Amino acid sequence: MRLKDKVAVITGAASGIGRETCLLFAEQGAKVVAVDINEKEGAETIRKIHNTGGQAVFFKADVSKAADCKNMINTAVEQYGRLDILFNNAGIMHSKDDDAVNTEEEVFDLTYAVNVKGVFLGCKFGIPALRKSGGGVIINTASFVAKLGAATPQIAYTASKGAVLALTRELAVVHARENIRINALCPGPLKTELLMKFLDTEEKKQRRLVHVPMGRFGLAKEMAQAALYLASDESSFVTGTEFMVDGGISSAYVTPE
Ligand code: NAD
Repeated sequence: MRLKDKVAVITGAASGIGRETCLLFAEQGAKVVAVDINEKEGAETIRKIHNTGGQAVFFKADVSKAADCKNMINTAVEQYGRLDILFNNAGIMHSKDDDAVNTEEEVFDLTYAVNVKGVFLGCKFGIPALRKSGGGVIINTASFVAKLGAATPQIAYTASKGAVLALTRELAVVHARENIRINALCPGPLKTELLMKFLDTEEKKQRRLVHVPMGRFGLAKEMAQAALYLASDESSFVTGTEFMVDGGISSAYVTPE
């Protein structure tokens, strides 16, 4: 078991990457606090973990709210006595996110509140708990769009993920000597709710796949495996990195037919 007796808080736990990571971390021996705004699907994540004999509790929180983030960390400490791993993974891609001219200010602000402030707040309350544990790990979910310009505009989302990388770099440097490793996970295009809602026609899906050398969407399970590496002691000298798990999209100029 690669995470035996570690205590992990995972946000965005009701779906996609967050859910698969909860299942995998629990299977690897972690005690999981699964956090999401979606109580119904969050409960389903917990049911799946309990069915396989894992340990987990659900905590309903909106990561853009300070009080919620404080309480999600407190839940880990109260339930399981400590915090070792914080996965700031919850994120949104608004259906009305567009180019700079056509994106409403409210869409931009909401995207930043969840995708950027959510990461900041997780760290604000998570770092003191990690210090008490003698160190630990933070993983922040960014995206390949933080590194590459997309022709399908989503200006608020793209900017928010760039901010996640900047946050991650500074956090990693500032907390390196406290034995806290902080890395960003940069998924490529995935077959999850979030992207499939956005690429809602076969034509849009194919348009995106043209750029992926592997010629397919990634799976949430594949992101969970990458998060497991970053969370485990196997990555003990890895901090401040932008871990691209993207089917080769960030390396491609022209993709094979
Ligand atoms: P998803 O939509 O399947 O899951 C996201 C989860 O976050 C949902 O359960 C949702 O309820 C929760 N959530 C949304 N707002 C929240 C809030 N304010 N507080 C708490 N929970 C909230 O998406 P996913 O594909 O699993 O995405 C997870 C992360 O990966 C996101 O940060 C996303 O931006 C990033 N990402 C996804 C892709 C992709 O192609 N799907 C690519 C790169 C990065």
